Amino acid sequence: MRVLAVDLGGSHATCALVEDRTILDRRTVDFQDSRTLAPLLAQIAALLRELVPHDGVPLSGLGLGFCGQVDARNCSVSSTNGKFVDAPGLDLRQWVHREFGLPLRLENDARLALLGEGYSGAAQGETDVVMFTLGTGIGGVAMMDGALLRGKHGQAGVLGGHVTVALHGRLCTCGALGCAESEASGWALPLICAEWPHFSASALAQKEINFENLFACADNGDPVAREILDHCLRVWAAAAITAIHSFDPDVLVYGGGVMKRADVVIPFLQDYVARYAWTPWGKVQVRAAQLGNDAGLIGVIPLFQQEQHLVR
Ligand SMILES: [Zn+2]
Repeated sequence: MRVLAVDLGGSHATCALVEDRTILDRRTVDFQDSRTLAPLLAQIAALLRELVPHDGVPLSGLGLGFCGQVDARNCSVSSTNGKFVDAPGLDLRQWVHREFGLPLRLENDARLALLGEGYSGAAQGETDVVMFTLGTGIGGVAMMDGALLRGKHGQAGVLGGHVTVALHGRLCTCGALGCAESEASGWALPLICAEWPHFSASALAQKEINFENLFACADNGDPVAREILDHCLRVWAAAAITAIHSFDPDVLVYGGGVMKRADVVIPFLQDYVARYAWTPWGKVQVRAAQLGNDAGLIGVIPLFQQEQHLVR
């Protein structure tokens, strides 16, 4: 099967021609943080046209991974988080039909990444998986019995970064209080550090505050950095337990920038869930994602192959 795939992030779009488990060709365009999508569609269509092959092999469709809440059944964007605020009003299905004469499948980008890891990556062959993305924000999506969990309003299983981990926590971008994302993500890290006791004594206070530097300072034995890193690991672990108790997975897959330090994160989470998750049937496996940013592009293939994924 061959498809066109678009991974639409907050500041860029990656367009690709995908055949089964292989990305045959790709183009990326940066948007410099455009807040609206409509003016960018012509640019995306032009890139996609460069990718359309002329060898007579038909395309099955176009799959679009969107960085917001999506109504997959109706092929529409239901809510955005400050990015592409006009997207809910756009008829993307009509746009794809007009430009390429192809059917459109629209899905949340994190859900597509999980489909990709399940088709060709860390969760290949698995049917019950939760995937977290640890980075600037925290994404969390769930697959049960081989089908993506979507729910009546398209929100089920997709808000894994927005489970409550702190009763008296800080305000999150989603509007809730004490989410995993507001207690241990890239955007929250400077806020966490600013409130941490004796932070000014840490070597991290002299550096740009990000996870790479936090891990480096903790590696050097900086006690405050070690405390903050331990806090973040425990937040991610608490979200993992909540996901296990909610969705009954065999496997947890972790992607995102923080996984550059999978050597620290994966063993911590594996040990934590083995100790604290209530799973009398056995132990949930914790794995690092394998496909990186390609996951969402390759995930378009199973999106078209397995129509049952569109069933609630
Ligand atoms: Zn939140």
